[in-house]
Amino acid sequence: MIDFEDTRTAFSIKSDRDLRRAYVLFKLISYPILVKIGNPVIQLCSALRIPIGWIVKPTAFKHFVGGATLEACQPAVEKLKTVNVYSILDYSVEGKETDKAIEAALKETLRAVKHAGNNPDIPFAVFKPTAFGNSRALEILSGASVPDKDVIREGEKFRSRIDLLCKTAFDNDTSIMIDAEDTFYQRFIDSVVMDMMRKYNYKKAIVFNTYQMYRHDRIGVLEADIASARKGHFYLGAKFVRGAYMERERERARKLRYMDPIQPDRESTDRDYNLALKISMDNIDVVSIFNGTHNEYSSMYLTELMNERKIKPSDNRIWFSQLFGMSEHISFNVAAAGFNVAKYVPYGPVRYVLPYLMRRVEENSSVKGQTGRELSLIKKEMIRRKKHEPSMPK
Ligand SMILES: Cc1cc2nc3c(=O)[nH]c(=O)nc-3n(C[C@H](O)[C@H](O)[C@H](O)COP(=O)(O)OP(=O)(O)OC[C@H]3O[C@@H](n4cnc5c(N)ncnc54)[C@H](O)[C@@H]3O)c2cc1C
Repeated sequence: MIDFEDTRTAFSIKSDRDLRRAYVLFKLISYPILVKIGNPVIQLCSALRIPIGWIVKPTAFKHFVGGATLEACQPAVEKLKTVNVYSILDYSVEGKETDKAIEAALKETLRAVKHAGNNPDIPFAVFKPTAFGNSRALEILSGASVPDKDVIREGEKFRSRIDLLCKTAFDNDTSIMIDAEDTFYQRFIDSVVMDMMRKYNYKKAIVFNTYQMYRHDRIGVLEADIASARKGHFYLGAKFVRGAYMERERERARKLRYMDPIQPDRESTDRDYNLALKISMDNIDVVSIFNGTHNEYSSMYLTELMNERKIKPSDNRIWFSQLFGMSEHISFNVAAAGFNVAKYVPYGPVRYVLPYLMRRVEENSSVKGQTGRELSLIKKEMIRRKKHEPSMPK
């Protein structure tokens, strides 16, 4: 049984100063009104090219982002590794669609894949698939309407970019994860990623797809994918998340009058998430599992499934993951118990990672849930240090 209340372990690499900074940051973003006003102001400043680095860099950027470049993330990577936590460097520049921007993102992501291959502390590379394709074409190819010649050509360009990324991971003997985004692009992306698994996962799971368990159809898809892996003699790389775009998915389904792709309630998402872990463990001879969650129950549950089946905590087919700067009480306590843990460490220039930062701030903007938990654990550790380690270097 892992003790998530062990704040000494959870914050062992944080100085008193780091803790105070984290406390002030989470306290500020726990006021929804501040976030409501702050986010549009920051967006406007960014659009008008008014410098905002001076305010974002020492605060949210420092807490949630590894650095502006791959190389700048190295101190964070090394620090995490001192407590046996690995890193996954995620180039978090979002929302650019021109051919020039796609080529630039491809070049940088290829560099990140090779960097992972050369660094034993970085076991995976990762990317968002929509960074490499025309979004309208991805939507049409996912069934929105009948594709014409241009759309088919865009689809082939997308496929060849994804293939290049997966092949580079294969050649550099590192794994690569493909994030999931909005459901209306996903059908085409899923089919391309499954083809990549057929091509590169014949010795072990190199390519991982993402299953968003807030979708009500994902258990069936997971079971069908496992059957395909068995039949096609390849390994299924399965990253599980609950899903990050619930409100906009629901809103779009309501507006365009199609069936809401999201589960009817929170309990159904939790049930399917944990069921997906169990199904994968039952098929561990062909499935590699990546448990991407800040949920304590789902993290503990996977450790229990492993214990029941006498699978070693360090088994390379099973990973636990949280985002950089969040849920340290899960990451560091799970790693201290000997399980494989990797943090998603986003990187990119301040101006370009703003959408990522704003999502983090927004999802933490409530004392209920995640932020309340972060604040209470940080406070607990500050009090513990005052009581038990008053003479530690600050
Ligand atoms: C390492 C990592 C990688 C990630 N990669 C991706 C990715 O590729 N794609 C992606 O979409 N997200 C991704 N996420 C984000 C993830 O999907 C969640 O938004 C986030 O982690 C919160 O879910 P949780 O399991 O951590 O925590 P919890 O706080 O336990 O769960 C919150 C989640 O439950 C679900 N939920 C809440 N209320 C309801 C409701 N009423 N009905 C149905 N469902 C509900 C939502 O998905 C919500 O985000 C990633 C997260 C991590 C840690």
